[in-house]
Amino acid sequence: MAREFPLERYRNIGIMAHIDAGKTTTTERILFYTGAIHKMGEVHEGTTTTDWMVQERERGITITSAAISAFWERMGQRYRVNIIDTPGHVDFTIEVERSLRVLDGAITVFDAVNGVEPQSETVWRQADRYKVPRICFINKMDRVGADFEMSVGTIKEKLGARPVRMQLPLGAEDKHKGVIDLVRMKALVFQDGEQGSRYEVVDIPAEYQEAATAARGELLEAAAEQDDALTEKFLNGDELTEDEVRGAIRKGCVGLKLFPVFCGSAFRHKGVQPLLDAVVDYLPSPLEIPPIHGKTPKGEDAIRETRDDAPFSALAFKIMNDPSFSSQTLTFLRVYSGKLEAGTAVWNSVKGKRERVSRLVQMRADKKDELTECYAGDICAVVGLKLATTGDTLCDDKQQIVLERMEFPEPVIDIAIEPKSTADQDKIIQALQRLAMEDPSFRVRTNEETGQTLIAGMGELHLEIIVDRLLREFKVDANIGKPQVAYRETVTATKEAEGKFIRQTGGKGQYGHINLRVSPNEPGKGFEFVSTIAGGAVSKEFVDAAR
Ligand code: GDP
Repeated sequence: MAREFPLERYRNIGIMAHIDAGKTTTTERILFYTGAIHKMGEVHEGTTTTDWMVQERERGITITSAAISAFWERMGQRYRVNIIDTPGHVDFTIEVERSLRVLDGAITVFDAVNGVEPQSETVWRQADRYKVPRICFINKMDRVGADFEMSVGTIKEKLGARPVRMQLPLGAEDKHKGVIDLVRMKALVFQDGEQGSRYEVVDIPAEYQEAATAARGELLEAAAEQDDALTEKFLNGDELTEDEVRGAIRKGCVGLKLFPVFCGSAFRHKGVQPLLDAVVDYLPSPLEIPPIHGKTPKGEDAIRETRDDAPFSALAFKIMNDPSFSSQTLTFLRVYSGKLEAGTAVWNSVKGKRERVSRLVQMRADKKDELTECYAGDICAVVGLKLATTGDTLCDDKQQIVLERMEFPEPVIDIAIEPKSTADQDKIIQALQRLAMEDPSFRVRTNEETGQTLIAGMGELHLEIIVDRLLREFKVDANIGKPQVAYRETVTATKEAEGKFIRQTGGKGQYGHINLRVSPNEPGKGFEFVSTIAGGAVSKEFVDAAR
């Protein structure tokens, strides 16, 4: 079996956002329009496809990074779009990082009422670090207070990035009807009641002409800057063709020089198909990203080109239990070079062991495709691997390599854990080890003094979810202790401020995620600020106010 279609027509993308910006809804719509699912679940019904885990449904956040393959047709060609889901909660930024490591481009979703929010800033910086080209989707244009220009402005001001408007909204709030395509200079009007599956392409209404012409001027200027020949044409006052504009914006986007901006309302089924067109038009194929680096067993530098005839190399980026696979382990791989065949053995160069790949699958929203082979640049999952943990390299055992590893931050919070019945002691250790294998930002330790088992993670929510999974998946009921936090900061305060704080709070208070208490060791010396979230910084204003 050969490749279904060439690597130029692959897109490995992630969808990233601040929590509640509409990432899940947008993903769901994308899967619907790509034909992967035929019935959409609304988020509030808890039936969306990427939210696999029970906890996610209950909490309404996306935790697990699932990779799903979909197909999209653009200008008569079929594209494979692998969507790597990235979670949006701050406790799970580690999951965001591991996804960023293996994807080639991303859609960043913003809420049109809020523009760039604090956490969109966090994920944006992470994507900068991994040099991930991005397109922006200003979602929720139907909401009261939706403001496209303000949102675009915050991309510039808060993120210091260069947004380029590729569209304007056709009306906002309850008058949001669709989008104005500034490349074609047409308005796309989405039909109500058809789940947005159809839209009409019409002339731009007169009242939008002026704004559209001005925005197109900026778009053309940005396009012309990306290419010397186009600059000349532009300066001569010659019209650039649609293909020239798309090609130049693509170049700027792949080169991280600019960020094309789109808009719509995922919830109201508006603007999602043009967003998929944009994924194809502006985000890179695996051939356009630099080849991956690694080390040979002798410690020499090595490079693996994205080619099917190169030696096989892949990175395990996610291990999960798939409930519909009789709880077998699924190891998600990004294949960087060569090909992987079902029924062959691979070398795990981090564990230094060989393992057999019996079955290969690709996850679709509604089913799994059984594969005989998986090729360079693609994402697939191996069923039943026992050794591989997140971050491991799998490769050809005759051409061994360790690919650049993902970096995982140290857990910041410890909680003592014990089973509710002593009979479960062994079971709990086994289960915790298994969870630690899936999740490199989670650790199991022993308290030297008390002999207690401690679990360490990125935040309280992270550990609560672990305890929840222990009960649901491993049937061990556990008690957990009070969090012991790794991050602290002591701030000297005046006696008066301390006295006031003690009077008001009894010596212990909370400010957002920050626990605050008077330093127990040295009364009169000041406050101790204790953060219970990863890297949580104490608000400077609050510290100043306390002084
Ligand atoms: P996530 O946390 O980023 O995954 O966001 P969700 O997709 O779960 O959306 C959060 C909430 O916003 C849900 O109640 C959605 O129904 C709602 N939502 C998503 N997209 C839109 C939109 O385009 N317009 C409006 N008005 N609400 C939306």
